[in-house]
Amino acid sequence: MKRLVFATNNAHKLSEVRAMVGDTFEILSLEDLDCHDDIPETADTLSGNALMKAEYIAEKYHVNCFADDTGLVVDALGGAPGVHTARYAFPDRHDPVANTKKLLAELQGQPDRRAAFITAIALIIDGQKHLFEGRVDGFIATEERGTEGFGYDPVFIPEDTGKTFAELGVDAKNKISHRARAIAKLCTFLKGKPAAC
Ligand code: IMP
Repeated sequence: MKRLVFATNNAHKLSEVRAMVGDTFEILSLEDLDCHDDIPETADTLSGNALMKAEYIAEKYHVNCFADDTGLVVDALGGAPGVHTARYAFPDRHDPVANTKKLLAELQGQPDRRAAFITAIALIIDGQKHLFEGRVDGFIATEERGTEGFGYDPVFIPEDTGKTFAELGVDAKNKISHRARAIAKLCTFLKGKPAAC
């Protein structure tokens, strides 16, 4: 089986991606490389950050790899938090609980709840760089709902579902999510044929 490093240690993301990729590739994590570096992600776009992370790993470990960067884009906030989604509440650290609380506070009383999750994936394979993007449109709930998933899942309602990602659960989320759509494009590319993974 071919090996591909996913430049993450997020267990939720790893299981989402492994479930989608199936048996075609063995997906290794940063833990498998014994990499505990604070990988820089200082670009001003999602694809720039994904590329920065993938390049760091490809250059340091000489492996085929991919990295992702996700942003939540909220219409009523002029596209914020966008590239700052992970450090929305505190510029120097990732606090998912505080991030969600800040988002709800910023949107208090705001009738326009439209938002989208966007994932950029940068793949470096055999020295070539490739970019993929997945997007899901939806709305921000007025309060947290549901217990599954991670990050902003309790407040993001993908359109046509009426439920938050945290209420829908991982299997349903994996069929429609931003990352699932980006990974599907990655898988199609890797398999060299138009069928989804
Ligand atoms: P990252 O770029 O994937 O590290 O994610 C940026 C921010 O978006 C972090 O705060 C994550 O918790 C959040 N995030 C990424 N993917 C998801 C998702 O699928 N659901 C909810 N939040 C997410």
